[in-house]
Amino acid sequence: MHHMSVRVRMAPSPTGYLHIGNLRTALYNEFFARHHCGTLILRIEDTDRARYIEGATESLCRSLRAMHILPDEGVWINEAGQLIERGDYAPYLQSKRAERHREYAQKLIAMGKAYVCFCSPAVLDKMRQEQQKAGMAPRYDGRCRLLHPEESAARVSAGESHVIRLAFPREGSVTVMDEIRGDVVFDWNELDDQVIIKSDGMPTYHLAATCDDHDMWITHVIRGEEWLPSTPKHLFIYEAFGWKPPIFAHLPLLLNPDKTKLSKRQGDVSVEDFLAKGYLPEALLNFVALLGWNPSGDREIYTHDELRSAFELEKVNKSGAVLNLEKLDWMNAEYLKSMDTDAYLDLVLPELRKLGGDEALQKRVAMLIRSRLIRLSDVPDVSGEYFHPLRNLNPSIIPWKGQQPADVKEKLAAAREELAGLPDYLWASTDDLEHHIKEWITRRAWQNGPVLWPLRVALSGREKSPSPFELLYVLGREASLARIQAAIDSLQ
Ligand code: GLU
Repeated sequence: MHHMSVRVRMAPSPTGYLHIGNLRTALYNEFFARHHCGTLILRIEDTDRARYIEGATESLCRSLRAMHILPDEGVWINEAGQLIERGDYAPYLQSKRAERHREYAQKLIAMGKAYVCFCSPAVLDKMRQEQQKAGMAPRYDGRCRLLHPEESAARVSAGESHVIRLAFPREGSVTVMDEIRGDVVFDWNELDDQVIIKSDGMPTYHLAATCDDHDMWITHVIRGEEWLPSTPKHLFIYEAFGWKPPIFAHLPLLLNPDKTKLSKRQGDVSVEDFLAKGYLPEALLNFVALLGWNPSGDREIYTHDELRSAFELEKVNKSGAVLNLEKLDWMNAEYLKSMDTDAYLDLVLPELRKLGGDEALQKRVAMLIRSRLIRLSDVPDVSGEYFHPLRNLNPSIIPWKGQQPADVKEKLAAAREELAGLPDYLWASTDDLEHHIKEWITRRAWQNGPVLWPLRVALSGREKSPSPFELLYVLGREASLARIQAAIDSLQ
């Protein structure tokens, strides 16, 4: 057929939310497909019914959509939230292809590359125990290979429970040629005869994924390193059928900061969780894209398009990539700072509306917190104090170094009076307020510290906060004067 062009697939299993590792795999497939003007396919690998989670396929599709990863072919979710399949190689929900997988398994049996195995879980258990007692590595000993095909067929017809296994070579080795890792050699005697059809008649991942990749004309299989040890099994199937294998690329593991392997079961590493915590999809995408690859070396901020055009499989690192969430925080803050102001306000104002106040106050607060905001979910934390009178102001933090309470009171009272008399137009900008107040301090022959520190703490209630001028501007005259008065009253 016609497929000279690149065809890649994302093949998640619907066992939960889209994990950050699956997002990275999806992204690299997308970058690769777009870079080569190829086709991106979403296949859902749902043959393991025991691990299937209701609604997981829908949630995977929604997360991919939220991250702007749109497949050209395969499973997708429509506006009404229903799963649809589109493309010439449907079905893309793998369980619907099970009949075809069983046919492939029968062909492998006919070719002597697979066999029926009747060993029950109890038999396998006993085998394992005996091997362990003898100090051997536990493995299937291949006893059902010896059954005569006619006997096997008769037992199957009689309804005896069975699985189908691949008949791997007993010796020699197999080389996986990997785009990222180079040649990786596996010894056949390390590998157990892999089950390809389970006793319930469902194919396992190894058979299903390999046959589907072939049937869907996949040219490049880009997936996590945890699948590398499975690749020899897949190569065995390709070779048995005389199919040309795709090019393989196994992406480096994701690691915790202590270099331990990031577990899928670990909480809070799903795309849904990150988005719910107020990370921007663009920042999350940028962050995940750089787990194991960087287009240039020192630059960190890239748009989706820039990543697509720079992506090269051969440049992906071999060594594990550490998930450093502080870097994600930094990146998200950078996105919030540098994005278009209107877009920023569209994101932040809905959060601020929940806190009260009028639109004008909300806008001033939005701009004030912009330089310090890390995630949208932090909005209440960093701006709650602008909307309500301060509670629990701690008077001991109001004085400047060594300043006596009487002096603090005097300075605050004087500042309050000065501010009360300022014309409205001076309240309309942080700069004008700063200029005026500093000039007034100079005129009084005071130092900045003993005036501006108490003023700032009176307005913010915190030892660390934006400048007093920003606070005055954001709070406005009425709230500022009330806060200064409350601070004066709190001092003995
Ligand atoms: N279904 C496998 C997963 O959940 C896909 C592995 C592969 O890409 O071959 O990751």
